[in-house]
Amino acid sequence: MIPFEIDLKNKVVVITGAGGIICNAFAKAIAKTGAKIALLDINEEAIMQLENEILKEKGIAKAYKCNVLSSESLRNIHDKIKNDLGACDVLINGAGGNNSKATTDDEYYDRNNLNEIKTFYDLDEEGIRFVFDLNFMGTLLPTQIFSKDMIGKKGCSIINISSMNAYTPLTKIPAYSAAKAGISNFTQWLAVYFKNENIRCNAIAPGFFVTKQNEKMLFNQMGEPTERTKKILNNTPMNRFGNIDELIGTLFYLLCEDASSFVTGIVIPVDGGFSAYSGV
Ligand code: NAD
Repeated sequence: MIPFEIDLKNKVVVITGAGGIICNAFAKAIAKTGAKIALLDINEEAIMQLENEILKEKGIAKAYKCNVLSSESLRNIHDKIKNDLGACDVLINGAGGNNSKATTDDEYYDRNNLNEIKTFYDLDEEGIRFVFDLNFMGTLLPTQIFSKDMIGKKGCSIINISSMNAYTPLTKIPAYSAAKAGISNFTQWLAVYFKNENIRCNAIAPGFFVTKQNEKMLFNQMGEPTERTKKILNNTPMNRFGNIDELIGTLFYLLCEDASSFVTGIVIPVDGGFSAYSGV
């Protein structure tokens, strides 16, 4: 289901993290606009399957195994995409996520309760760097490579994925929160930097959607909601998780030059009211 139709025929849309839950849905929706889509992910199986699904529905898509943290990998893929589909018009930086190595067990430090608990002090340096890099560098490097195609062209844009924790950090995940705050900031920076080239750069900040990267924090092994889930839903005025389809309207609005030609440097929350609610 797409909420409305837009025409992106002949546009080349590059999506990183296309093997993930959110960008899989983005790719399938964009395929219906007639665009040619490059599906990038480190998980080759996921993007091969997605490519097949899109081709079956008469869309145009091609999978490219790629690591968004390697400029070399991105450069190689960039050349292939230009050959296969053409120069990039739209880049969606979707690769990202948290990792348990950069997640504390405790929400608040309690010096009287430190047994078998991973506190801020136990966070692994490598884990923190991994999460920071994946979310920040994993957006910056693809932008460096693919935005070059957009110079001197019309109707190009970049869409990043921020998060609720960019507005106020969520407990337990300091690296992910800081990196996503960096993404909101970088989105504004890019919008200003590319003003003369008319490359619009915006971001979507999804509220809470159940995906691979967060399901272990939201449901226990029995599939029951965790305490964190209860907190999230209590702080979401709409009192539910989002459905991935509910991101598509905002995505299309930002993609469609006719609808958002004067919109750049913004971060749009799609969150059931989470970012509007103080908790009181
Ligand atoms: P996901 O884990 O389903 O998808 C992320 C994808 O990125 C995976 O397919 C993974 O293989 C890919 N990836 C990881 N490392 C990579 C690398 N080095 N190179 C290339 N690809 C790599 O997660 P998702 O929920 O679909 O997340 C998509 C984006 O949305 C992420 O940036 C995430 O931080 C953000 N986000 C998600 C939520 C949510 O509730 N799920 C909320 C806010 C923001």
